[in-house]
Amino acid sequence: MHQITFEQQQLLQKNLLAEFSQLKEKVKVRLTASSKQYLNDLVKDVDTMNADALIDSLVHSESHSLNLYKTQIQSIDAALQGIELGLYGLCSDCEVEIEVEELFECPTKQRCTACEIKYQQQKVKGYKL
Ligand SMILES: [Zn+2]
Repeated sequence: MHQITFEQQQLLQKNLLAEFSQLKEKVKVRLTASSKQYLNDLVKDVDTMNADALIDSLVHSESHSLNLYKTQIQSIDAALQGIELGLYGLCSDCEVEIEVEELFECPTKQRCTACEIKYQQQKVKGYKL
């Protein structure tokens, strides 16, 4: 049984798509400002690219802000794919349902609170190694 209703999911999907378009605009601004010609050339293609293509084209970017946008696009894309597959709102680690309120606060949330804490702790440990 799903906690999240179809209408709630549709609303979140709309928000995610809006966020994706906003990110595309930010990416375009950043690409235009770049001193690298191949990044300037990308600007005209950004609008027609899907998330995968956009992430691929930014793979070699050394810009901190572009890398940040790339990470955000990846999490939006993962959430949108989750909606399509009917897996949206389930924790990617333990598959428990994430609270609907939490999803509205952060639509790209991929883990339940318990798994998120575990994940963050492992990440910190990873940095120390
Ligand atoms: Zn979990």
